[in-house]
Order: sequence, then structure tokens, then C-alpha cells
Amino acid sequence: MTHAAGPLVFTRVRAVDPSRGLDATVDVVVEQGRITRLGPDAAAGIAGTERVRTFDGAGRWLLPAFVDLHAHFREPGQEYKEDIASGLAAAAAGGFAHVCAMPNTRPVNDTRAITEMMVARAREIGGARLHPIGAITKGQAGEELTEMADLREAGAVAVSDDGHCVTSSAVMRRALEYARTFDLPVIQHAEDHALTAGSQMHEGAISARLGLRGWPSVAEDIIVARDLLLAEAIGARYHVAHVSSLGAVRLLRDAKARGLSVTAEVTPHHLTLTDAALLGYDTACKVNPPLRSEADVAALRAALADGTLDAIATDHAPHSPLEKDCEFDSASPGMIGLETCLPLLLGLVREGHLSLARLVDALTAAPSRIIAIEAPTLREGATADLVLVDPERRWTVAPERLRSKSKNSPWLGREVCGRVELTVAGGVVIFDAAEGR
Ligand SMILES: [Zn+2]
Repeated sequence: MTHAAGPLVFTRVRAVDPSRGLDATVDVVVEQGRITRLGPDAAAGIAGTERVRTFDGAGRWLLPAFVDLHAHFREPGQEYKEDIASGLAAAAAGGFAHVCAMPNTRPVNDTRAITEMMVARAREIGGARLHPIGAITKGQAGEELTEMADLREAGAVAVSDDGHCVTSSAVMRRALEYARTFDLPVIQHAEDHALTAGSQMHEGAISARLGLRGWPSVAEDIIVARDLLLAEAIGARYHVAHVSSLGAVRLLRDAKARGLSVTAEVTPHHLTLTDAALLGYDTACKVNPPLRSEADVAALRAALADGTLDAIATDHAPHSPLEKDCEFDSASPGMIGLETCLPLLLGLVREGHLSLARLVDALTAAPSRIIAIEAPTLREGATADLVLVDPERRWTVAPERLRSKSKNSPWLGREVCGRVELTVAGGVVIFDAAEGR
């Protein structure tokens, strides 16, 4: 699937990169891994020549490739759900050239050896770049801190106990202090487990109607409020994973207004679905944190638009039929998200909830800043990490066309609009829809 890095030429394409204030119809030339020319008629004399792959940009957009802060690749330990190879293939198909892997593997990624193994495995596979996130505590048990210096040296870009919340204030305080020494962001899965024990979905009118135990949004707000106090006192880099509640949005907006170094991400599913999606007991819609109310979704959309929520992250969480084709109570939470991210978000742009510029920023420059990697950008001389999109192309989310090993998506069988046609990482084509399934 991966091609040798011959020259690539995009002619008359709408190139959009808000980090440079760019939104123009131009030609773009990629040679030896970099963007070498960008401008009107930049492809003159090159397009159509030997060894050059030329892409007609008519009706297409060229964007910096996407960066996902939050994916679960299940390797090591649960490769039947996903492995690094299938996860990276799904990422490339979704337009991502960079993807962060959460540490809740089996064993947990809490050591240099596991981080190194993941990085080496991803290099061997090629394709999208993998950036491991190390655990905050050993075994994600919430007690003893990991050797964050080792994790960082091995390639970890952040630390998180995602899947679990760091509930102890004392441990969280030490984690923020320790991570600050290594300039690593601490990513919190904000959930007061004492308030969510046994929960199945968002606590509200619908959970009451369905007779399912609820996950109250205040369980998220309490942790975010406490962590912001700690982060402020310590001066650490704090990042909230998958923000889902109106209350957390308010707290973040206030903290940012006071100049705190805090950031946050939101998932495509929390922006596009409410708890009403659970009415048919569809286990594909069981996620953690849960799908929330209309008021929460409206707050998330506004916060993404105004930058209170910095980045979009998929929380791609593959599960096999073993974990999903069962009673609602016993189903594992999570849905896949890498390959449906772009069309779902383009829907928000079309409906006027979000500008295209903010969407691109939230998928590229904003997440890159958070993990301190070179942001994909459309500039002469920059590394060629880019994605070609047909914004009008309709396609059906069919299991056989998804690269992910797992198919736990509520959008299966549904038609969406907007398709990734080509993903390029470091000048190499890592996904080409023309070779599709
Ligand atoms: Zn989480």
C-alpha cells in the first residue's frame, strides 16, 4: 500500500491551512518528502512528466494531515480487536499522519521497554506516525508514578491513565509536579469513579426511562475543577481528554481566561450524538464518558468553535463482537472513530456550527502544539504531511471498507458526506482511496 516517495503534484486544488492564513486555489508540488512549491501555476512544467503522480485538484481540498491525540490500538495484548498495523491503516484512511496511542494496553504501557516496542513496531510498519502516551501510574493503578523521564526518552509525548481517572488528589498533585520536570502534558480521563460505579449511560431523563444506571456529568466536572486548581498551583501542563459536559466546558473557559496552561479535546461522537442514541440499546453507542444531553452537545460545539476546546480527538476504541454483541450492561464502552472523523465534522461545518478554518486547526496545529510535534502545514519547505479531500463525495460506512479490525461504529450502514482521497506522510502516500476496498 505504501509507495516510494516519487514526486507528487496537485493541480488547481483549494489549499486550506489556517496556521498560515491560507485558503486559495493553487498548485502544490511534493518532492523528496517535502513541499517544494506552492502557488498559482507552481506545477507548470512538472505535472504529467515521467515518474510524477499528478492529482487533479478540481473540487478537492488539500489540508495539512490530521493529528489524533487519542486512539486505542490494543497492542500489546488484545490484537484481536486492533493492532498497531491495522490501527495505523485506519488512521491513514481517516486522513491522519500522526496518531497518539493510549497506554491502556495489556500490559499497560508504563515502561520504557513497551514504549520502545510500540515505536519500533510502528517504524517497521511505516505509514502514519505513532506517538505513544505513557501511563501516569504503574499499571494505571492510580498509586505509584511511572518513570516519566524514561518514557519520554523512549518517545512518549504525554502521560495519561486513560480508561481510569487519577482520583487521588495527592497522586495527581505529584504527577503534575513530576511531569512538569519533563515538560510532559498530563492527560486526565476525568471521572469520579465513586459517582459512576455501575453506570451504563448519561444520567438524565433517558437513563431513567430505560432503567439504566446513569453517569452524572458532575462526576466529570468535579475532577476537572480539582485538577484545574492543582494545575494552577503547580504551573503544570494539564489536558482534559474527551470533554463531554457543559460544566467542564465552563470550568475550562474560566481557566483559560485566567491564563492557565490547560488544553482540552472533544470527540466527533460527543459533538454529533446525544443520549437519545441509546434509546434502542445500541451497544455501539455505549462510550465512556457517555453521550450526553442536547445542552451538553450545544456547549461542546460552541466551545470547539471558540477554541475553549482546542483539539478534536477520536478516542478510537476498537472492540470485537465479543465485547459488543451482548447485553447492554455487559458491553464494553467505546467506538471506533478514525475513519468517520472527517465526514462527521464536515457535517458540523455544513450546518454552520464550525468554520472550516477552525476545524482544520483543531485537527492539525492545535493537537500538534499539545504534544509538541512539528505541525503538518502547507508551506514550501515543510514536511509533506497532507490530505486530499473530496468534500462532496458521499459514501456508505460499510464494515468491509473500514481498515480497523473492529467494526463497532454506530454509523455502520449510514451514508456520510466527505471523503479522504489521499493521505501523505513525509512525502509518502500512506492511503489512496483509488486503491480502495
Ligand atoms: Zn478515556
